[in-house]
Amino acid sequence: MGQISDRVMRLAASATFAMNQKSGELSAQGIDVVNMSVGEPDFNTPDYIKQAAVQAVEENYSKYSPVAGYMWLRKACSDKLKRENGLDYQPSQIVVSTGAKQALCNVVMAIVNPGDEVLLPSPCWVSYPEMVKLAGGVPVVIKAGIDQDFKVTAAQIEAAITPKTRAIMICSPSNPTGSVYSREELESIAKVLVKNPQVFVISDEIYEHINFIGSHNSLAMFPELKDQIAVINGVSKAYAMTGWRIGFMAGPEWLVKACNKLQGQYTSGTCSVAQKAAQVAFDGPQQDVENMRRVFQTRRDLIVSLAREIPGFEVNMPQGAFYLFPKCDYYFGKKYGDKVIENSDDLAMYLLEVGHVATVGGTSFGAPECIRFSYATSEDKIREAFRRIAEALAKLQ
Ligand code: PMP
Ligand code: GLU
Repeated sequence: MGQISDRVMRLAASATFAMNQKSGELSAQGIDVVNMSVGEPDFNTPDYIKQAAVQAVEENYSKYSPVAGYMWLRKACSDKLKRENGLDYQPSQIVVSTGAKQALCNVVMAIVNPGDEVLLPSPCWVSYPEMVKLAGGVPVVIKAGIDQDFKVTAAQIEAAITPKTRAIMICSPSNPTGSVYSREELESIAKVLVKNPQVFVISDEIYEHINFIGSHNSLAMFPELKDQIAVINGVSKAYAMTGWRIGFMAGPEWLVKACNKLQGQYTSGTCSVAQKAAQVAFDGPQQDVENMRRVFQTRRDLIVSLAREIPGFEVNMPQGAFYLFPKCDYYFGKKYGDKVIENSDDLAMYLLEVGHVATVGGTSFGAPECIRFSYATSEDKIREAFRRIAEALAKLQ
């Protein structure tokens, strides 16, 4: 075991990346795997964005960048928030980071003290509880099942708040469920949070543009919350730029200072060339974003109809992101040969080994009764995956 710290020992590895890696290992052995594990757009980054990066290399954007990001990118983030979300954030209220992941982790590290409770409406993304644990905080899961479309109510949040509650991490459109909170739902949640100003809101809006029900709503649209919220966003999902690693946080100046201090010791300013590309992503034409959104919607319709044909799967209608999160506990207790399915992680492993389809079990999203499919892949692959899944599941007795 060497000398690994308790901190790292307590940390769970990222289940999304673990399944993605397993899928890659099988593919490297020559096995044809349909990979629906990791959530990343299968599209290439639009050409005009790539060209901006090429030009940045030519123009020698090769030095350390300012820790909180180049001012022109912070301005592009601020303009984006105004133009698309109607939110007023000055460039000085933005910190650019190495992906939305670092932006989230910065905020958690900046505000959570050991023993502080952080509310996690759940199912939630695998990294939230681990970030809270890294900061010494206590993740407090508020569970919403498929019967409530995986969305927590304001009353559930109110009931979970204690004197130790320091923050809430909320994601809409959601990974892993695809659920999207309506303006009315957010308004009633905002009312509870305003009454509890010690609860800081971390609003993860990375799937903003992959929304099938209309315009994006954010808790930040309620001005009473302005000093109590950080908005997290980035370029990974909307612009098919997962590898470029650009995300940002918009929030009060005291939080900007704290994140800047952390980042200055931990990673420095993020990649200079990627910042140029991100500026063009935010400031440039948005037609590609809409084109990709439409493709995701067609795939959503396809995967929902295929999943509804699978015996024992209970399927909601995801309204955003690119995930389907069916309830699959019908299969628990069943077996095929020496393979016994006790939970959805077993089921994910079974589908990988027997069906050659990579998914992610629901346990690390806080829902062991569900399994996650990323449909950021072609319609042909989605069809092939469900043909294989139906065949593999039919073997379970
Ligand atoms: N939040 C959620 C809910 C996500 O699914 C992801 C996906 N990686 C992220 C944040 C992080 O995005 P990024 O690639 O910008 O770090
Ligand atoms: N957010 C994506 C997912 O959930 C990418 C992997 C990760 O960062 O966890 O699959």
